[in-house]
Amino acid sequence: MFQRPIVLFIRKTWFLGAIITLLILLIGAGSLRLNSVFSSDLKNKIIVIDPGHGGADPGAQNSGLKEKDINLDISLRLRKVLESKGCKVILTREVDKDFFLPGFVQGRMAKRAELNQRINLASKNNADLFISVHTNSFPRRNTYGMETYYHLKSATGKALAELIQEQLTRLQSDNKRKAKAGDYYLINQTKMPAVIVEVGFISNPRERKLLLSNSYRDLIAEAIGTGIDQYFKDFPLGVREIVQTVSSQEGPPSAGNDTYKLYFLNSDLESLVPEDRQICQSVWAKLNLTQKANLILGELLKGPQGVTNTRTLALKTKILSLTIQKGIATINLSKDIQDDFPGGALEEDMTIKSIVWSMTQIPGINGVRILINGEFGDTIGGHIFLDHTFSTQPLNEVN
Ligand SMILES: [Zn+2]
Repeated sequence: MFQRPIVLFIRKTWFLGAIITLLILLIGAGSLRLNSVFSSDLKNKIIVIDPGHGGADPGAQNSGLKEKDINLDISLRLRKVLESKGCKVILTREVDKDFFLPGFVQGRMAKRAELNQRINLASKNNADLFISVHTNSFPRRNTYGMETYYHLKSATGKALAELIQEQLTRLQSDNKRKAKAGDYYLINQTKMPAVIVEVGFISNPRERKLLLSNSYRDLIAEAIGTGIDQYFKDFPLGVREIVQTVSSQEGPPSAGNDTYKLYFLNSDLESLVPEDRQICQSVWAKLNLTQKANLILGELLKGPQGVTNTRTLALKTKILSLTIQKGIATINLSKDIQDDFPGGALEEDMTIKSIVWSMTQIPGINGVRILINGEFGDTIGGHIFLDHTFSTQPLNEVN
């Protein structure tokens, strides 16, 4: 009589143990399956890699080195990395070529049409991501550092850019650059999350030497690949797009009674630095708005006085005309601003900002339109199109 319950008890414990073991196994298997679902996310993805520039458009140039060649080589390496992770990769170009329409290499619409071909390729193929690879150059040799750009209003672009930048910074521990929003045509126009990766400065001796080595190019490709991998792991369902309003960035302080400011570049290309210029009261008081704007722009063209600052406009650039209507200054500059522009995307952005900041400090000027040789919608270096009014404050209407 005493035995039975004991036996039963033993049997029950065994049974319970078996069930628990089975449960643990099931849960384990389940989580394994879950993991493999996440890690295989990359497998079905279509990624368009766009090696910047090419063919008739060399991009930034420095002592015989052309941006287009580095962009292509790193893109080909990135393709290998992504294909090994199971992605479907499409390159906008696999050789040294451009996408200018036949007989349409010059002129203000040529570069836009060229970039549209790249954007259309990504749309046609329903790409999940668009990665444009570029290389930087800057007149000051000590400027260096990789950086990644996203469109200001794209939460997905921002998430992707931050993850790529994090990986790139591991290669370059002294690189303080962060992922940044940029007003670049490619990332403005693409429908899918898009970033521009600037892999470094060919104008910096140390970075240039690294960029010439195969092993360093492989490391860059792997870093970008790891960033993309991480993006799909962190956001398997995508990132909720939040349309941000343009942050109400503070504009330049108004010109005072005694001085006005000219905005130049500092050597790390991170920001614009103001240089004060004295106002000659007896002259200034007699000038109308247009004459004041002409005077300040003329001084900006002359370049900086501070030895650590760098000019933002090509030396030979001339003001062809300057008019002001309803608070918008329309500045018509000679083609030298384009022909003698040696830099990359970042310098182009800073060039435009230096004009806008220097102009909008004048009370009565709220926005700037920049024409090249009388034409609206052209571009200085092929990354930003001058087809809208630029301002430090959000403008209601931009036509
Ligand atoms: Zn470029």
